[in-house]
Amino acid sequence: MTVAGKHALVTGGGTGIGLAIAEALAAAGAQVTITGRRQEVLDAVAGVNMTGLAMDVRDEDDVVTKIAAATEARGPVQICVANAGIAEGRALQKTSLEMWRNIMATNLDGAFLTIRECLPGMVASGWGRVITIASIAGLHGLKGAAGYSASKHGLIGLTRSLSEDFMGSALTFNAICPGYVDTPIVTRNTETIAQRTGLSAEQARAMMVEENRHKRLIEPEEVAAAAMWLVGPGSQSINGQCIEIAGGQI
Ligand code: NDP
Repeated sequence: MTVAGKHALVTGGGTGIGLAIAEALAAAGAQVTITGRRQEVLDAVAGVNMTGLAMDVRDEDDVVTKIAAATEARGPVQICVANAGIAEGRALQKTSLEMWRNIMATNLDGAFLTIRECLPGMVASGWGRVITIASIAGLHGLKGAAGYSASKHGLIGLTRSLSEDFMGSALTFNAICPGYVDTPIVTRNTETIAQRTGLSAEQARAMMVEENRHKRLIEPEEVAAAAMWLVGPGSQSINGQCIEIAGGQI
């Protein structure tokens, strides 16, 4: 099986990890729909084999309508990358219910809705690949980010359970669990950490680099390489797994 000609949907595909995955899929000949809340961001990166469609993953009607429109335009989604997410690290005592719900709505409800709407097309076409972009914070507790960590634990549970539901079919469900990747989320986080701790943004970034035992941030393209392997012909028996790309960070 090759991805050429297949319809792939990448949520949060206009920036960072999602964009790197979308570009790799498009380069391999997939017809890629990238989504995010800001149409102008999507338009700026869309191009050959890549179309932008504004969609808020927290909004059920929006997800239902937009995935139906994308399916109408490019056929059933056979590769679904549930990547959209926010990282709001703060102590639980300083987390309001509104903040907690926004993290869950984006990172967990968003993946649930996106995958649910893509599944019928995969089942009907008899082949599908679902990749969720979780985090090592979904495998271990992350100090100072209980809400984010809880959402990513939930995302891994969702991924693993779906792999059981469809075991034996040509649909697979896997999570990728990165450590710190050099994307806009990390830039925003360094600013937040700097404000909270009084460190400079450079010092906050250096703290993240230090967590990786190779002493560097991971590149989005390294995550994309794993995603491409998961949609490629050699990985049909990889199902319900969490692939850590973390440079030894725990
Ligand atoms: P980015 O901030 O670049 O990507 C997040 C993407 O999600 C953006 O494109 C954003 O687009 C989209 N998004 C956010 N909220 C919504 C929403 N409500 N509806 C639709 N789209 C939304 O950072 P990354 O590329 O790093 O993050 C991608 C994923 O990787 C996230 O799930 C993150 O948790 C995960 N991750 C990142 C790590 C890192 O160190 N960078 C480490 C581990 C996991 P827009 O704002 O236009 O809506």
